[in-house]
Amino acid sequence: MIAAVTPLAATALSSLAKNSPQEPSDPLSSGTPKGGLPPIDLGPAEYVPTGEGIHVRFLGTGAADWQGPSENGELRRLSSVLLDRKVLIDFTDTALDMLPEGVRPEVIFYTHSHNDHYRPKAALQLGIKTVYLGETWIERAREDFRKASSETGIPVPEIIPLAVGQAVECEGLTLTALPANHASSYLDEQTLIYLIEKDSTRLLYATDTGGITAIAAQRGGFDRHVRGDKFLTGIIMEATMGFGHEEDYRIFTHSSIGTVHKTVKVLSQTRKYMPVEGQKVYLTHMAKTLHGSQAELDKGLPDPLCAAYDGLEVTFM
Ligand SMILES: [Zn+2]
Ligand SMILES: [Zn+2]
Repeated sequence: MIAAVTPLAATALSSLAKNSPQEPSDPLSSGTPKGGLPPIDLGPAEYVPTGEGIHVRFLGTGAADWQGPSENGELRRLSSVLLDRKVLIDFTDTALDMLPEGVRPEVIFYTHSHNDHYRPKAALQLGIKTVYLGETWIERAREDFRKASSETGIPVPEIIPLAVGQAVECEGLTLTALPANHASSYLDEQTLIYLIEKDSTRLLYATDTGGITAIAAQRGGFDRHVRGDKFLTGIIMEATMGFGHEEDYRIFTHSSIGTVHKTVKVLSQTRKYMPVEGQKVYLTHMAKTLHGSQAELDKGLPDPLCAAYDGLEVTFM
């Protein structure tokens, strides 16, 4: 519903407009006519998907502190997803038993070099033939894989560097490397999140990251400043911090449930996230020490947030 503007309020608004500075400093106003904000560049009113969607199997949904089951017996393996049963994003040996029988993907995209996402030996033993990772730490990765190769006797796979914004076509999917807000001990490393596209589906896989970076939102076309009708149709985002842990020291490198909720609200309001009806936003990379049980999450999470769990399969349209 549109709120009615009373004549008094309208007068106040027009006098405000007259007195406003000639060149607004607000970046929202840049490149627009003087005297106010541009109309929000809304995308189409509804999303009609084409294609069969992107199939995701969550192989692991935990943060680095999951080194075994919790007190209630639940277990989250280290974060990893399998796309269309062919492409991995991150993989550790903890998630080996979560691969479907007979499925042995040969391509992996890494988000970053942290040990809870990246284990060269596990990739070699799995039979990975092609590795994509950020160009900022490619030499270090090559050395890691050489070492793992000499330990296992398995040849080094092809290792391909990715620049921020670079798109790769692979197994019917297009993955675009976008910058995360995260840091490893290797201070030159630009860690990555990925936009995954197929037909009309545009799925964001965002871990590890403290919120979404401006560059990622702009490059991915889902920042409200970006003109055009691009929008996300699916979101998987990390919530390392759970209820009661919004003010946590990891805030500079990780997201909380609140971060994801606010991000999704803004994307929805600006029509930069337009899922099919009933589609959930899935949380991953949940820390063992900062979250309750799956049942508590299922009960407490605000719609459309939903906690993924190991073995969950979702088709994003
Ligand atoms: Zn992590
Ligand atoms: Zn990390």
